[in-house]
Amino acid sequence: MVKYFGTYGIRGKLDTMNPEFALRMCSAFGTYLKGGRVLVGRDARLSGEMLEHAVIAGLVSSGCSVLQLGVVPLPAVEFGVRKLSAAGGVMITASHNPPEWNGLKFADADGIGISREEGERIEKIFENGNSKTAEWNRLGKVEQCPFALEEYTDALRKAVEKRHILKESPKVVLDCGNGTASLIAPKLLKEFGCRVTTLNGQIDGSFPGRNSEPTPQNLQELMKTVVALKADLGIAWDGDADRVIFIDEKGGYIYGDKSFALSADIALRERKGTVVTTVATSNAIAEIAKERGGSVEYVKVGGPYLSRRAKELNAVIAGEEAGGVLWPEIHLGKDGFLTALKIIERICRDGRPLSSLMADIPEYYNSKTKVECSAEKKLSILKKFKEKVKGEGKINDIDGVRIDFDDSWVIVRASGTENLMRIFAESKSQKKADEILRKYKRIVKSLT
Ligand code: MG
Repeated sequence: MVKYFGTYGIRGKLDTMNPEFALRMCSAFGTYLKGGRVLVGRDARLSGEMLEHAVIAGLVSSGCSVLQLGVVPLPAVEFGVRKLSAAGGVMITASHNPPEWNGLKFADADGIGISREEGERIEKIFENGNSKTAEWNRLGKVEQCPFALEEYTDALRKAVEKRHILKESPKVVLDCGNGTASLIAPKLLKEFGCRVTTLNGQIDGSFPGRNSEPTPQNLQELMKTVVALKADLGIAWDGDADRVIFIDEKGGYIYGDKSFALSADIALRERKGTVVTTVATSNAIAEIAKERGGSVEYVKVGGPYLSRRAKELNAVIAGEEAGGVLWPEIHLGKDGFLTALKIIERICRDGRPLSSLMADIPEYYNSKTKVECSAEKKLSILKKFKEKVKGEGKINDIDGVRIDFDDSWVIVRASGTENLMRIFAESKSQKKADEILRKYKRIVKSLT
């Protein structure tokens, strides 16, 4: 059977992600949901409006009713599904991919993304042509839902203590990357008393300002502007605004694992409990959790796995290394806005610059590499690798093979899209991380 679902939904260029595909896949999704109300939102990509019509037609034909949100950030859909007790949601977006891409992110009644495994059930309905067509008098209805964005923004307002930010009125430079963050961030932060300068704040699905992924290379202008304006920090989002990246007052790029560590520290000060993260995340998280009397739970790499486990364990916070943080107090998806507000609140509350807060985060060094191998061999390499390294440390094999040593760890994972094994090592010194990487790369190579 053809596999369409990645870790969170389906992405493609127009040759595959076209109206016919979207219609058939959404009618399969509607069949999987067995009817009910479904929220539909989209980002501003140029193919978005066209796909939206197809998505709605597919859902309605299967008997689902549609609440149409229009152009919104992804978190507004994930939040809205639970708030409105809907059966599910569809967000038409390709996240941070280039503008010629688009995609479909499906969410269940908890507002949690449909994972690759759950997606198989929808793929089966799609491939076998088993989508249900409702009777003529049982077709779904389509309603506009213009208040969803405002209700979501209200939940953000309530999740932080505004007075701390109002008192300090920090100078903030935002880079919305012409994405959906433009709809909320500048206005909300001004309302919180921030002195705001916005880059790429016009929503435009051709992404004229910068590439949508908030990498150091794509955020050069933001880093320079933060320094030139002597701002307190810079903030940048990806296209659908579930991920966020911070720039400190010196113009330094803060990697996602570090801002997640700071977020975990903030959350654990408010409430003790579990932090959920992926097996590929820095030990800084475990160290902070231990310091603050919390614990860490590891899951497979992918947003839906974080969300599901966070719900099951009533986690305090969840997140991954690429700048995606979940705050279960408002919804179960990654939220780039609440992460931004919580970090600004912390800067203002402590009266300390962001670089100084970051200096408190335990320092780890990493090293990564890849080894080429054929697609068929990936599983057997992992199996043999696990056998070979038995007894060398604490082994976790929920996603690839991770070996934990005293203050270091290494993980070997099969790439989901390329014929590669990826190896990542982390330690307290660069030298040690490099050494560990070399050792395990040799072992992986010997198994190819
Ligand atoms: Mg995204």
